[in-house]
Order: sequence, then structure tokens, then C-alpha cells
Amino acid sequence: MRLGAVISTAGGLHNVFRRAHQVGCDSLMLFTKNNRQWDAPPIPTDQLSLWFAERDSHPDLWPLAAHASYLINIASTDDALWLRSYQALRIEAERAFLLEIPTLTFHPGSHTNAGEEAGLARIVDALDRLLEEMPANGPTICLETMAGQGTNLGYRFEQIEWVLSNTEGGERLGVCFDPCHVFVAGYDLRTAETYEATMAEFDRVIGLGRLRCFHLNDSKNGLGSRKDRHTHIGEGEISLAGFSALVNDPRFSEHPAHLETPTDGPDDEGAGRNAANLQVLRSLLDRHLAAEREEV
Ligand SMILES: [Zn+2]
Repeated sequence: MRLGAVISTAGGLHNVFRRAHQVGCDSLMLFTKNNRQWDAPPIPTDQLSLWFAERDSHPDLWPLAAHASYLINIASTDDALWLRSYQALRIEAERAFLLEIPTLTFHPGSHTNAGEEAGLARIVDALDRLLEEMPANGPTICLETMAGQGTNLGYRFEQIEWVLSNTEGGERLGVCFDPCHVFVAGYDLRTAETYEATMAEFDRVIGLGRLRCFHLNDSKNGLGSRKDRHTHIGEGEISLAGFSALVNDPRFSEHPAHLETPTDGPDDEGAGRNAANLQVLRSLLDRHLAAEREEV
């Protein structure tokens, strides 16, 4: 697994490479624009040159991943909000394309009071239009597995499968697996056995081939609580046994996986919380444990 974190773009997008390197990431995720605003000015040409120069001087940081704004709700049955959300998602996809980022993850959205089926149908409408308007070699658009707070959609694997199988997107659509969300949505991950059972269920319903990226968050809340509060790896309900099963799963050895846990600010570096969480995750790797045994 390509371990990393969501990295601050403070001071310019190109700064993510230096920061991710200082934290000790294998890969990184970023918001290419302010995640609490709808609009963003286009990326200036000099910023793009800096981006590619920094990327090329950090060939060890791969794959890159983008996350869309939290405001986007393409599940909305309110036409004005749906259109605004669609346009914002398209801007995100265009920016990821321009920056040559292979995956863009977004939250499927909330149906508010319209009902789950109506909300899911709106998601399909937006994705079909997006894929029609974007170049075929654009980023893979990934639906994130959600916690199921309020009227959020995407907390059952069946909902994600329904969207995937009702769009024309094919391989241009994927899934981002967030262990905290999946766990509070009711899928156990606390032991090697329950992890395997949850992945088998994902495979049965959606297919593991659709899984393109992961988040790495432990959960403050319990199984099935549908309450989304991220916490540091090993400090929550999922436990290290669950994360050990995940980071050692050979099916995901080249998948990107990113912490979204609390940090010490933009310059959370070598001694910060991201680095500490990565260290915990790496200590769980079988190859690390084997090396330790050899030393003894
Ligand atoms: Zn997310």
C-alpha cells in the first residue's frame, strides 16, 4: 500500500511535494482548491510550471490523488444546488486533469428529504454528464464510501453499486474506501476475520476491481453508529488488528491510502501527527515485523 496523507497546499499547490516528503509519505492527496468554497480562479501558468517541476523532482511520491470540495451535493433534488454542484465537480475534474492527477474522490451527497432512490438518480445524472463533457483520459472519478450521517448516500455498498451500474462511466468511475466511514456504516473491520468478511462483501456487491484508493482514519465512534469522527490510527474503535489486515493486503500493494486525521497545521512535518500515524501503520507491515524478528 502506498501510504500518505492529505497535504496542505498553503502557499501554493506545488508545496505539497516538499511537505509530503518531509512527513515521509509514499503518496499524497490534496484539495486543488479551497474545500469550503465553490469557485476558484484558474491555475496560473507559472503555478503549473512549479507544480510539474516539483512533481518531477519527487518521483518517489506516487500515485497522486485529489479530493473534491465538501460543498458539492450532486444528490440534491434542488435544481439550483444540483447544477452548482455539478459545475463545481466539473471544475474539480478539470483541475485534476490539468495537474495530471489520476483519481478525484468526491462525497456522493445527501438526498435531504427526497428519499434515497431520488438522490441516487441525481448522482447518476451528474456523473453521466460529467463523463460526457470530460476527456476520456481524465481522472477516474471515485465515489467515497460514506458514514451515513443524516441523509448522506453511499453508506451501503449497494448504493454505490447502483450508481456505478446505472452510469455509462465504466472504468472511468471508481470507489474510494474510507475505513472509518465503512465501519460506522456497519461493516466490521476490527479483526483479520471481519476485515476479510467486509472485503468479501465489497467484492460481492461492487467488485474489488472498482476500488482505486483508500483513506486511513480510525473511528471515534462504534460499529454501526453512523457518526463520522476521524481519529489517529490505533486510538479509535477499529484497532490495530484491522489496520494491520488492511496495510498487508497484497491486493492493494500499489493502491494509494491517505490519512485524514487531525494534524498540527500546514507544516505538520517530521515530528508531527501525520508522521506519527505513518510510523504506526508501517510498524504493522509484515515485512517490518519480519525484519524485527531477524534482528532478534
Ligand atoms: Zn472524503
